[in-house]
Amino acid sequence: LADLAVQFDYKNQGLCSINEARNEIRRGLHSQKPNIFPLGKIGTDIGDLLSEMFSNKYQKISVETHCATCDPANPKRVTESDDNCLDFILSNKHRTISKHFSTWQDGDRTCGTCNSLCRISRRFAQNPQLMIFGLQVNISISKTIKLIHEDKSATNLHLRGIIYGGGGHFVARLITLGKDVWFHDGIATGSACQIEKPLTQFTEKELKVHKDKIAVAAIYSF
Ligand SMILES: [Zn+2]
Repeated sequence: LADLAVQFDYKNQGLCSINEARNEIRRGLHSQKPNIFPLGKIGTDIGDLLSEMFSNKYQKISVETHCATCDPANPKRVTESDDNCLDFILSNKHRTISKHFSTWQDGDRTCGTCNSLCRISRRFAQNPQLMIFGLQVNISISKTIKLIHEDKSATNLHLRGIIYGGGGHFVARLITLGKDVWFHDGIATGSACQIEKPLTQFTEKELKVHKDKIAVAAIYSF
């Protein structure tokens, strides 16, 4: 991810084209993991690419657990944990990303000792710069998600990008700070983006697809 930022900087300074920046990243990935990131026309799995890009992006969270069966008299147990900013959604238990994320922050889990359900709460020590959801199930794309801090205050993270895949080709929607939605397709529009309607006019269901392509990742930030 840092290498990508460097390449974007070069592009902004006019030192390389956006295609050269992309090729530089592609060559770097290929030299590290040639089987996963082939060159030429052979495609890469988007899940592998996300995992590689965000593999070292961690944030501090505190995890509070309490089993009322094992530990009725004791207060909650709190541990610190480093959590990756990339989360693959594998189950369509929840209708939206927002619901998935809020249940991850305040949900149930099976107690390792007595097998009964116990509460688990996760709280963020700092604001993460990014939260990325890899979508492996059909789920509606929330426009904002709510993040809860250790002091119980909440911050909204806003949808900033969606990647769609299908037929061996990926396209993307980018959302600006002003909530304009831009569409990018490297084959159809080259390095240019096309403006679509404002984000407020999209339904969460509409954001799930772009023509024949299905959302495979959603990116949130401030
Ligand atoms: Zn228990």
